[in-house]
Amino acid sequence: MTSRAALPLGQPRRALPPASPAATAVLTCILSAGPIARVGIARRTGLSQAAVTKAVTPLIDAGFVTFDGTRRGAAALGRPVTPIRAIPEAVRIIGIKVTESEIIGVTTDFDATIVDRERRRLPKHTVGQVARTVEIVTRALIKRLGPMQDRLVGVGVSVSGDIDTNAGRVRHSPLLGWHDVALRDLLEQRLSVPVRIDNDVHALTLAEQWFGVGGGKVDSFVVVTIGSGIGCGIYLNGDVVNGSFGVAGEIGHLPLADAGLVCTCGRTNCVETVASSDAILTTVRTATGRADLDMAAVVRLAHEGDPAAVGAFNRAASVIGSAIAAVVNLIGPRVAVIEGEAVNNFEVYDAELRKAFAANAFGAAAECQLRLRPHTFDAWARGAAVSVLRAFVGQEGP
Ligand SMILES: [Zn+2]
Repeated sequence: MTSRAALPLGQPRRALPPASPAATAVLTCILSAGPIARVGIARRTGLSQAAVTKAVTPLIDAGFVTFDGTRRGAAALGRPVTPIRAIPEAVRIIGIKVTESEIIGVTTDFDATIVDRERRRLPKHTVGQVARTVEIVTRALIKRLGPMQDRLVGVGVSVSGDIDTNAGRVRHSPLLGWHDVALRDLLEQRLSVPVRIDNDVHALTLAEQWFGVGGGKVDSFVVVTIGSGIGCGIYLNGDVVNGSFGVAGEIGHLPLADAGLVCTCGRTNCVETVASSDAILTTVRTATGRADLDMAAVVRLAHEGDPAAVGAFNRAASVIGSAIAAVVNLIGPRVAVIEGEAVNNFEVYDAELRKAFAANAFGAAAECQLRLRPHTFDAWARGAAVSVLRAFVGQEGP
C-alpha cells in the first residue's frame, strides 16, 4: 500500500531491560505511586530493599526511571530515602477511542499524561471507514512525535462491546453493529506498529487503577460509565476483573428497566433501553414531536421543567442508580467512580440516581462512595494508552 510506505516510522525500538516479576512489580509501583523511595517500594511490594535496588538499577541505566533530584539535594541521590520517579519522556504511547461518530486520539508520556491530541469525525462506522480514520489520526500523532518516534511503544485502541484482547478481535460491538472483526491485524497491517485493542470501559478502569482512584491505595472500586452506553469496570481485591470469557460488568444489559423496549444487544428491558443517551433522546423527541432535539436541548428542557425531559432523565437515573446498587450489593466496592459523557450533565441525574442507589443498596455496602469524575472524551483514549502501558511493563492482567 502506498500509504503504508509513506509512513515515516521505523519499528519501535524502545524496550525495557529483561523483566523479572520483581522488576515488573517495582516499575508498576514507581508508575502508580511515584515519586516513591526504595523504602516505600519495598513496603508496598513486599520485596527487600536489596531486591528493589537490583530491579531499579537497570531501569535507571536504561533511562526509564531516575532519582527525583528536585525533591532532595544532590548529595542525597541514591540514598534509600531518595524518591524515584518515572522519566515522562522515556516513552510515548498513542491511545485511540472509537465512538459511533468520531475517532479520538491522544499521545501520552510514560506517566499517562496527555501530551498531544487529534480527532476526526466518522461519516459512518463501517469497519473500513473506522480503520481508515484510525490510520489518519494515528499517522498525524506519529508525525508530530518528530524525533521521539522511536520512543513509541504501541497504539492502543478501545472499542465498546465484547472484545478479545489476546486474539485482537472485536467479537461483538452492538454500538458499532460489528461481529467478529480482526481489528488488531487490520490496523497493524495499515500502521506497521504494535496495536492492542481493549474494551473501552476495561481500559478506563486500568487507567483509574494506576493513575486515578486506585493509585495502589483503594483495593476495590468500580468505574461506572454513563453516556451512549452504560458500563462498569470492576477492580476487586487488587485486580481488574476480566471475566472468564472476557466479559464482566455489563450493567447496561442488566434487565432492570420495565418498558419492554428492545436493546441494541437484542434483549428486552436492559438498563440501556431507557438510560443510554440515545434512549433519552428518542423518548423526548417522540414525546415532544421534535425530531431535531439534540442532547444539549434536551438537558435545557429538563432544567426548564419540561415533563417529558424531566421524566426521561428521572427514569434513566433511577435505573442507573438501581444498577449501581446491584453491583455494590454483589461485590462491595469502597468507591464507585461515575464517568462518561453524561457526567457533564450530571445535575439532571444526581438526586434520582442517589435516591435509587440508597433505596436498593444493602446494609454496609451502601457506604460505598459515589464519586463523580469530570469527563472528557480524551479520558477514553488515555485509557487505551494505559492498556498498552500495562502490557509494555509486563502487567498483562489475567
Ligand atoms: Zn442489552
